[in-house]
Amino acid sequence: MAKIICPNQIYLPKPWGSEAWLCSTLPKNQTLVGDMPLSQVLGEETLLVKIIEAKEKLSVQVHPDDIMCPGEGKTECWFILESGKDSALVYGLDGVADDKVKDVVLGGEIGKYLHYEKVKAGDFVFVPAGVVHAIGENIKILEIQQSADITYRVYDWGRDREIHVKKSAEMMEKVSQKQRNIFKGFLDEFECDFFKVKSLKISGEEKVDFASSGNCGFFVVDGNISIDGENLNKGQWGFLQDAKNPSFAGKGYIFLWKKN
Ligand SMILES: [Zn+2]
Repeated sequence: MAKIICPNQIYLPKPWGSEAWLCSTLPKNQTLVGDMPLSQVLGEETLLVKIIEAKEKLSVQVHPDDIMCPGEGKTECWFILESGKDSALVYGLDGVADDKVKDVVLGGEIGKYLHYEKVKAGDFVFVPAGVVHAIGENIKILEIQQSADITYRVYDWGRDREIHVKKSAEMMEKVSQKQRNIFKGFLDEFECDFFKVKSLKISGEEKVDFASSGNCGFFVVDGNISIDGENLNKGQWGFLQDAKNPSFAGKGYIFLWKKN
């Protein structure tokens, strides 16, 4: 039977809204279980998991990969928890050939070519390192990402924060900005080199073949669900330690993740 570990969140107010770090083993902001650092409890580094609540849109940004910044690359994914009627994300560029991306970024022209994608609760977005992105206003997401904290700001909507065009251009020209890894109404499994995730509706009792060993993270999106007999409510999250295809019961919606 899996043991359930519930870390304390770290709440960080931001000018545009807020971040709550649910699970982090980054030294600067490590989540605690009681008074124990999460890395000691799990015995390993985990993915960085946050809830981002954007009242206003965030800056347009890009993250490096592990080749550009060894050990500090960041590929991430978003599961949309709530959104306004017209809420949209920025995801990649439109109308720019891959070999022109660098010129557009260095020339300060990027604002004209941003691709916007409308999203709603339940959508899933995979954001590989190097793809330019921004969370739009009135969006609440569950963000699961490699455990790293490097962000290059490419464009800030005319606000006056520092912009990192050179690093951004260097990273962005390595990947196609036209890829669209957006899964509307996601209810399935997705896997990349860094993580595996699953969104799952539970109705009744079932064994879930997701993690046969190690630690598996969870977030209860909706309803009341029990995992191996332990009851959990909407909004609760944590880890199943030594998860061996746990048993789920109840009625609700849960999101699972696992480090690859
Ligand atoms: Zn990001």
